[in-house]
Amino acid sequence: MIQISSKLPQTGTSIFTVMSALAAEVGAINLSQGFPDYNCDPALIAMVNKAMKAGHNQYAPMAGLMALRQRLSAKTEKLYNAVYDPETEITITAGGTQAIFTAICCTVQPNDEVIVFEPAYDSYAPAIKVMGGVVKSLELEPPDYRINWEMVKRLITSKTRLIILNSPHNPTATILHQSDIDELSAIVKNQDIMILSDEVYEHLIYDGQTHHSMARYEELRKRSFICASFGKLFHTTGWKVGYCLAPAALMQEFRKVHQFLVFSVNAPMQYAIAEYLKDESCYLGLSEFFQQKRDYFRSAMEQTRFELLPCSGSYFQSVKYNKISDEKDTDMALRITKEFGVASIPTSAFYSRGTDYHVLRFCFAKKQETLDKAVHKLIKV
Ligand code: GLN
Repeated sequence: MIQISSKLPQTGTSIFTVMSALAAEVGAINLSQGFPDYNCDPALIAMVNKAMKAGHNQYAPMAGLMALRQRLSAKTEKLYNAVYDPETEITITAGGTQAIFTAICCTVQPNDEVIVFEPAYDSYAPAIKVMGGVVKSLELEPPDYRINWEMVKRLITSKTRLIILNSPHNPTATILHQSDIDELSAIVKNQDIMILSDEVYEHLIYDGQTHHSMARYEELRKRSFICASFGKLFHTTGWKVGYCLAPAALMQEFRKVHQFLVFSVNAPMQYAIAEYLKDESCYLGLSEFFQQKRDYFRSAMEQTRFELLPCSGSYFQSVKYNKISDEKDTDMALRITKEFGVASIPTSAFYSRGTDYHVLRFCFAKKQETLDKAVHKLIKV
């Protein structure tokens, strides 16, 4: 037998895959993995079709279609007052996760330390470990999951190379505030520390709050890889198209890896997205669209015995279940899926030590009837 020495001995199958497969197997309503159960705009599909028929079926440029990069540059300038050169500072990726992996791959050297706030999206730590880096995690606690910046200062050493941020945050639905930006800026100033900012939920932010993109702040912008996703933007998670913004010197290294990881991203989708982005209402209306879903789901969930945690952004709602059970969140998530027919994600999966605050995450990017059916079942728990 051929022996393979695992680079990720502790890593199993992603919780998103596990819970979605279980939901399909037992026929449960799937509020686990974050994706919509309704279709995207037919106009966008028609644009893909048009691009394919027009013959745009060969390799796109390595960094992405220029027309799309130009649109993103204009969007970022308008929203965040930051100028990214489409030639050298924007790259189209095969989804947000690939952008994140590539940014980690081109920054982290063996033994470099990376600060990660947990609960964290499950791709960060494995990517760091594959590169021989060391994960320095700081655990955040419900209900507010705020970052204690004094603790961050204590974690910083001469080996700290990267800090990973994610706002709006998956899975906790919290956002960074101006005070966080100020603390972070003071910490990294004059330090050789880069930032990976996972901003895939940038347009899913509620109650009139502001998205504090790293692009807005020069001290942060100059050291940041900002990763984003068209899947979250256009309800097309299956298309796997995203992008990364970074200053030219950083982007140069990003592209060295990107070109050998994917070379380039599928062309017809890029033509279509470039055309679709001409009308900015396609993303400016998203907060309102999802806020309605959030409000609807939250108010329906009041009928259950689950306790709702705050939700400022993303399309996730976390709940505590202390009034119902004291079992582990992984057991609880499995049991609710099998016995009551609603799949969720146990939040302990986002902590490297498996810390369990008895919190489950539900995705509310679903049709109203799906949310109704799910809540109807959850009332019985
Ligand atoms: N970001 C999505 C989530 O948190 C899913 C991503 C994935 O399945 N890789 O559910």
